[in-house]
Amino acid sequence: MSTASDRKHYSMIIDGKSVEAQSGLTFETFNPSKNEVLATVARAGKADVDAAVAAARGALNNAWKKTSAVKRTRLLMKYAELIQKNIDELARLETMNCGKPVWASKGELTQGIEDFEYYAGAITKLTGETLVMPNNLFAYTTREPVGVCGQIVPWNYPVMMAAWKLAPALAAGCTVVLKPASATPLTALCLAELALEAGIPAGVVNVITGPGAEIGAYMAEHPGIDKIAFTGETETGKAIMRAAAGTMKRVTLELGGKSPNLVFEDADLAAAVNGSVFAVFYSSGQSCEARTRVYVHEKVYDAFVADFIAKTQKLVVGDPLHEKTQIGALISDAHLRKVHGYVESGVAEGARLECGGKKVETGDLAKGNFYAPAVLTGVNQKMKCVREEVFGPVVTISPFKTESEALELANDTEYGLAGTVWSTNGARAIRASAGIKAGLITVNQPFTGFPGVPFGGFKQSGFGRELALETLKLYTEQKSVVQWVGEKPLNPFGL
Ligand code: NAD
Repeated sequence: MSTASDRKHYSMIIDGKSVEAQSGLTFETFNPSKNEVLATVARAGKADVDAAVAAARGALNNAWKKTSAVKRTRLLMKYAELIQKNIDELARLETMNCGKPVWASKGELTQGIEDFEYYAGAITKLTGETLVMPNNLFAYTTREPVGVCGQIVPWNYPVMMAAWKLAPALAAGCTVVLKPASATPLTALCLAELALEAGIPAGVVNVITGPGAEIGAYMAEHPGIDKIAFTGETETGKAIMRAAAGTMKRVTLELGGKSPNLVFEDADLAAAVNGSVFAVFYSSGQSCEARTRVYVHEKVYDAFVADFIAKTQKLVVGDPLHEKTQIGALISDAHLRKVHGYVESGVAEGARLECGGKKVETGDLAKGNFYAPAVLTGVNQKMKCVREEVFGPVVTISPFKTESEALELANDTEYGLAGTVWSTNGARAIRASAGIKAGLITVNQPFTGFPGVPFGGFKQSGFGRELALETLKLYTEQKSVVQWVGEKPLNPFGL
């Protein structure tokens, strides 16, 4: 990989080659902490999608299907090693393109590397079954790769979402056409280059760049694509599901969230504050699983809110390339305005803005999309800021009286991605975890993404799981074989 963060133009990777769009068109991608152009990128159209799908189909039939699981393990381990070798450069590029602190980019890359290692190890353990059958019949199941997979990822965790998708697909023997978000296409393109350097055959990993409404939508209906794995907004997920129905594609969807964070009166309050601040403001709140709705038992509410505000005000908002920065830039000025709109609407509906809630205008930061983390209290369940996904550094905090009320408030949402429980009462922690309708609950800590721990939503947060052993199965088709093993041939019609 040449020094990625110095490059001024990025081409697509199709069939192992660096290519421009057939139309010759390009688009600009930005550094959100300065609002300066970072690079130009090839802008794919439908013809480029067709070329990428043809390359993926060719590689599936001619190379990847013939590569044994053990060989795929070795190639994926090599791939992980190469990402590790380039981690500093990739983290810098990720930070320059999406605005998150460089330590966070590095952490997400580290997790991406672990995903490749996890699935590299797991694929040789995926076996079929022999089944209990009537006499003289023998039956077994096998698993085959689904085929060509279209993978569409968002801008908030560009490289990590790409890794979550690529690792199980490649391990399972699928080939891929990956489309990153137009705001953050650069690290995905680098991943495609590294796949080739690792020895993964040309055409197995194709990365195309361009507008989602055009080429993403075309991928969802494309007859040459067997499965779509999507991460992004719930509304986009619904459109993809509808488009995929035409060819009965396999679909997995990781969508939006509005995750609750319950702080009980028996919680370790200092830990709950520190963990809750992280759980909502990591990645400047641009996180599907951000625990944005904090509900606190009335007995500890005042103490919790005071400490939460004090800690929020201490967060270091700044240049994401500085190691000490905790809150980087939002992805764009338009997104910052949208986030601010939620704070304004909350205040207009009667919420109290306790701190933050405005664009940072000091010194060099004024050029970028920096937003001071906002804490809203005095909210109710009807407010837009409580109901809708803000996707920025904005939290709402409100009190509850009883455990059952806490669960009712937690579940009063169309989403169901994640949730957190803070309690030192073990039985209550288990009860509350069971009571929250969401795919992933954390107890007394805010972290979620671990290879092997299924990640995905209930309700309108999507379906299918990533990071899990089960994910491998979602990249395969199960086949049943039923065979006659009797000594005499069968003659069912007695002919
Ligand atoms: P988005 O839905 O706007 O875009 C996601 C991707 O889909 C991009 O690559 C985009 O170009 C493409 N796209 C847009 N319109 C399309 C269409 N009609 N057909 C096909 N593809 C299309 O989402 P975003 O703004 O990039 O990302 C933020 C969203 O992602 C939030 O809602 C967040 O909660 C969600 N998210 C979910 C998870 C999860 O694991 N559940 C993880 C990260 C982000």
